[in-house]
Amino acid sequence: MVKDTGVRAPLPPFTDEHADLRASVNRWIGEEISPHVDEWEAAREFPRELYLRAGELGFLGLKYPEALGGQGGDCVHDAVWAEELAAAGASGGVGAGLGAHTGIATPPVFNFGTPEQHERFLRPAIRGEKIGALGITEPGAGSDVAGIRTFARRVSGGYVVNGSKTFITNGVRADFLVCAVKTTEEGGHHGLSFLVLERDMPGYEVSRKLEKMGWHSSDTGELSFTDVEVPAENLLGEENRGFHLIMANFAWERLSMSLAAVGAMRRLIETTVSYALERRAFDRPIGRFQSIRHKVAEMGIKLEASRSLTYQALRLHAAGRNPIREVTMAKLLSQRACLEVADECLQIHGGYGYMREYGIERAVRDARLGPIGGGTDEVMREILGRQMGL
Ligand SMILES: Cc1cc2nc3c(=O)[nH]c(=O)nc-3n(C[C@H](O)[C@H](O)[C@H](O)COP(=O)(O)OP(=O)(O)OC[C@H]3O[C@@H](n4cnc5c(N)ncnc54)[C@H](O)[C@@H]3O)c2cc1C
Repeated sequence: MVKDTGVRAPLPPFTDEHADLRASVNRWIGEEISPHVDEWEAAREFPRELYLRAGELGFLGLKYPEALGGQGGDCVHDAVWAEELAAAGASGGVGAGLGAHTGIATPPVFNFGTPEQHERFLRPAIRGEKIGALGITEPGAGSDVAGIRTFARRVSGGYVVNGSKTFITNGVRADFLVCAVKTTEEGGHHGLSFLVLERDMPGYEVSRKLEKMGWHSSDTGELSFTDVEVPAENLLGEENRGFHLIMANFAWERLSMSLAAVGAMRRLIETTVSYALERRAFDRPIGRFQSIRHKVAEMGIKLEASRSLTYQALRLHAAGRNPIREVTMAKLLSQRACLEVADECLQIHGGYGYMREYGIERAVRDARLGPIGGGTDEVMREILGRQMGL
């Protein structure tokens, strides 16, 4: 039988240039990240210097103009970064910490910020000197983003902010927080705005570093704001147009999570096929059992279906088509698929899969966040149902 491993030359939107980028992200992760992942997971954080190193290599500014210190690429370059961070085994935690910086915190600064804000926040973020976080979720408002209560009262020269945020990736060590606030008493769709809050502002406090099931090497913070004085020049975009900014940001967040799931599944399946060829039971490699082969076949379909939908959404996004429907479908399909694939790979590894050293149990824990973060499965289904006319 002619073997078809699925390896193909790049097809649009990817080119040979993207293939080179894939190779260099992979090389970097293999040489400088993977060997330390266990240590960083145990320490519950990866070193801050990793941002500087990623900045030095150009990975934090792939889609930003050279005039701002970026690489002058576009979202397809960033897509490669998102996928390979997961595929090369950087761990969910490292992927989350670096990915939140490039995928959700800096894009609103670039898209909605003034030239002055670009200089103050984006340029140092691209160099990895300042770490960014995005603060939308609150203890009382997650899926219902319009229900946030953190309030920015208008005063002469700016705002005074009171409230709190929770589950914020990079929240503990972020230098700046792109933060959703209410700027009218009612809040909601027409009363939200974004302010850039800075860590050294009096009244800005990291109230807790949260312990969680997976993503151990990333920090997840709970933040509180007590009479934080924020100058008017830290308003991002237009006042009371923040809901629009949240929605714009969700598109890339969900797409990059889909790309990461595709990368993670690719790695998990490759690792598991190698294991199934080596591990023997009843005088043969376990991969020779039909039940194992069939599990691998099903996983291959989950990967390919997720990849096709995700790349199609990426193509449309890159063409400026605002593909809410395809992005939502890709997010919903790929996150659940990744969790199921990770669990099935653990099963194929048997007891070894349950042990720390193979990294499979970590992959299962890391994958559990997918159907929750960036909008839950239930919320994705709601959006889709409405997009389809109901
Ligand atoms: C590790 C981690 C990192 C995160 N990073 C960030 C970050 O950097 N920045 C940030 O702002 N947020 C972040 N989040 C928050 C994340 O986006 C929210 O957890 C998510 O949006 C869900 O909100 P919630 O947890 O409040 O759940 P809830 O909204 O309370 O939902 C609880 C349950 O009710 C269901 N539900 C809610 N509404 C509906 C509905 N209309 N129909 C049907 N079911 C519904 C949900 O699907 C879910 O099953 C992070 C979360 C985690 C766990």
